[in-house]
Amino acid sequence: MAAVTQVPDVTIPTSLLPRDGRFGSGPARVRRAQLDALVAANPSVLGTSHRQPPVLDLVRRVQQGVADLLLAPDGYEVVLGNGGATAFWDVAALNLVRERSQHLVHGEFSGRFATATTRAPFLADPDVRRADPGSASSPAAVEGVDAYCWPQNETSTGVALPVRRVEDTGDDALVLVDATSAAGGLAVDLREADAYYLAPQKNLGSDGGLWIAVLSPAAVERAHALAGSRWVPASLDLPTAIAAGRKAQTYNTPALATLVLLAEQLDWVNGQGGLAWAAARTAESARRVYAWAQASTYAEPFVADPALRSDVVATIDLHESVDAAAVRAVLRAHGVVDVEPYRALARNQLRIGTFAAVDPDDVSALTACVDHVVAAL
Ligand SMILES: *Cc1c(COP(=O)(O)O)cnc(C)c1O
Repeated sequence: MAAVTQVPDVTIPTSLLPRDGRFGSGPARVRRAQLDALVAANPSVLGTSHRQPPVLDLVRRVQQGVADLLLAPDGYEVVLGNGGATAFWDVAALNLVRERSQHLVHGEFSGRFATATTRAPFLADPDVRRADPGSASSPAAVEGVDAYCWPQNETSTGVALPVRRVEDTGDDALVLVDATSAAGGLAVDLREADAYYLAPQKNLGSDGGLWIAVLSPAAVERAHALAGSRWVPASLDLPTAIAAGRKAQTYNTPALATLVLLAEQLDWVNGQGGLAWAAARTAESARRVYAWAQASTYAEPFVADPALRSDVVATIDLHESVDAAAVRAVLRAHGVVDVEPYRALARNQLRIGTFAAVDPDDVSALTACVDHVVAAL
């Protein structure tokens, strides 16, 4: 059992509180308009067949919304399946890695994908390039590696990496980017990736359970070329998911409510100005967090290299004289929640989700609340 933190007797004045107190790194804040859309989808969509036009139209709206948001190049396909980003690691190991992958591992999520390919009995052991949490290694061409893998944003540590093809790999090496917490919040040029995959409960402010992958023609070709070379469970079979996606479907039943929330959020971000708008907004929120930490006597960015600091998840270490758990407990008692660090990091830290749905002024309110609590402790 984790130690229960006593909530210190500190009151934050209401005037300091953010309008929305949710700063988690996923599931992350869902806007009221999305809930309204959910209500409006009953009975026209919710509770109806996923093989009939209302849901097919909804899936198509999600596919188009993702393609528009990410400016998907011609020929790229948006494919959906069940099981979240975690299931997509298995999909990728089974359907996209031919013999050997390379993984940049510098946190929990990048590590889990490397574990998946390490355990896959039909693949060679991957080339794993580890770096300490808070830093990152770089991809490099290695003979025999046919898939290069890293997260655009390592959610557990707040490290963001460029999405860029690896030099000198030969033509048919794939780049597989975990964009679960980055997609729609960080700029990207999808020509630099073959699978850009995500789950919708983070920057896209929906709910969990789905994976969405934007696949290049080369990735689609790889999946088809590998078909039949190894046993693949039907639920993880990428050619099956691709075929379903071409009919605006999923292989098995998706969560309709998640799709409704997601479609609404995609329309909202695209209506505000798309990825350029969203990336500028997350950058502004993150800038406020890092600037506050740097000016503070008791806080500093966990990620030492400014070039690696994420605009969608900001990790801030507090000086050992300040009990971060006590600060978080006071915040939580006031409805300001989920600034816990990733549990395995076990640091005296605040981890702040600065996703597109977060108003930068709420971020400023959060840092003012932290200053207030620390001064009162
Ligand atoms: C949350 C997260 C995952 C896991 O997503 P699930 O939907 O829970 O499977 C994978 N990668 C990154 C970068 C994440 O942030």
